[in-house]
Amino acid sequence: MKPNSAHISIKWKLLGFLAVFVAVLILMLWLFQVVFLESIYEAIQTRTVKVTAESIARRIDSDELPAQLLKLYEQNRISCRVVTAEGQDVACVVGMESTIKDLLPVQLMLIYATAARDGGATLEVLDAEELQSSIYQPLFGGRRERNVRTIIYGKLVTSSDGGKLMILLNSTITPVNATVDTLRAELVVITIVMTVLSLALAFFMSGVISRPIIKINASAKILAKGDYSVRFDEGGYREITELSQTLNNTAEQLGKVDQMRRDFIANVSHDLRTPLTLITGYGEVMRDLPGENTPENVQNIIDEAKRLTSLVNDLLDLSRLQSGKQKVEMQDFSLTGLVDGILSRYAQLVLHEGYRLSWEHEGDAVVHGDTTRMTQVVYNLINNAITYTGEDKTVTVRQTVSDGRVRIDVIDTGEGIAKEDLPLIWERYYKVDKTHRRAAVGSGLGLSIVRNVLELHGAQYGVQSEPGKGSDFWFEMKTVPSARA
Ligand code: ADP
Repeated sequence: MKPNSAHISIKWKLLGFLAVFVAVLILMLWLFQVVFLESIYEAIQTRTVKVTAESIARRIDSDELPAQLLKLYEQNRISCRVVTAEGQDVACVVGMESTIKDLLPVQLMLIYATAARDGGATLEVLDAEELQSSIYQPLFGGRRERNVRTIIYGKLVTSSDGGKLMILLNSTITPVNATVDTLRAELVVITIVMTVLSLALAFFMSGVISRPIIKINASAKILAKGDYSVRFDEGGYREITELSQTLNNTAEQLGKVDQMRRDFIANVSHDLRTPLTLITGYGEVMRDLPGENTPENVQNIIDEAKRLTSLVNDLLDLSRLQSGKQKVEMQDFSLTGLVDGILSRYAQLVLHEGYRLSWEHEGDAVVHGDTTRMTQVVYNLINNAITYTGEDKTVTVRQTVSDGRVRIDVIDTGEGIAKEDLPLIWERYYKVDKTHRRAAVGSGLGLSIVRNVLELHGAQYGVQSEPGKGSDFWFEMKTVPSARA
């Protein structure tokens, strides 16, 4: 099979994912460090100023207010004036460059009024130019730096004695241009390092992930060619180990099936060839030697042909049963009558060859099933018993009915079956003793058909056997209440 060119190797896929990841990461860094830096910084500063105003408001009556303001300036460079509604200072700590340093009482009163109008607080963030045209512009002195943005925050408070005061805070936002340049240079380095790292990572990871897959693929190709002895390497990681175990198991099962198929073909061809050789042999003898055209030889040919027919029939039956294509015609019938009928077919055998077939039964057991198939079952069991029974040539068939179930036992007095063979005799083509005198007739398919038919009927079945003491093949199925009973 040719690999589809649309299917990209895992190496390139990984590299693609990592590239996207790195790009997103760098974009985020660039956005936050360069583009939004100023506004983020401004937001943080504004928040600090507001929080500071809150904390001063809580200590407005404290004697330590001036000391607090001083500390504030030293730590955060935030200037502060606490003034009355008339613009008179109550406390004041301001830096030399502070915007609010030189504000006159009249300006302070204006700011106070703005805060009062805006709900008790006013916030302005202004650059140098905007400052020029605002009320915060110091009328005297106050050299203003260019490019500096300034935050002015006024908050109204009431002291415990009812005095109306305003906390006015001021802080500057120093330009970040220099910082941005540094960050930009850093970003270039980070981008290069990340790209190289992700490349290396992609190649390393793809190696770790794909190496075991490549190995499995190689083994699978060997398996596809029909070599079932191939082993899949279970190293790597969990998914690969599980896949390898599954494939090893599959290879093993395929190997077994293949072996069974070979055995089966070997057995079938052997069994087909034997009667054919005999038929040809007898035919040729009868053609070439005038005296050999005897009824016995003709009978031999007929017998061998029958053997072939029954073998082929068995094979067909079994393959139909196993493929589930067998049609079953279920109906109520008398199992007792069925056994009766089969046993009577052996009358000749009883008469001429001294066999003793005893049939122990009471009453009439009616079951629901396929008559033809069940005839096959009983026939195969009795036939086996007659074939394998001992020197006394005795076979007992026993029917017992209890609790709505009927059990048929077919008992012989033969050699029995060894324990280790017991589970195997039900398998297709299994013969315990391939050289058995009378068993030469058997195809090895009989019990396999019995098993398949009984399973189809949901019947229980089994065998009790002890070497030297004979065997008892039995099956048990539900009875249906008989109209005749
Ligand atoms: P076969 O056609 O060879 O009898 P079966 O499938 O009927 O094939 O039986 C499988 C094998 O089980 C037989 O070859 C035989 O070795 C063993 N077997 C079956 N029935 C008996 C029995 N009544 N006594 C001893 N062995 C038996």
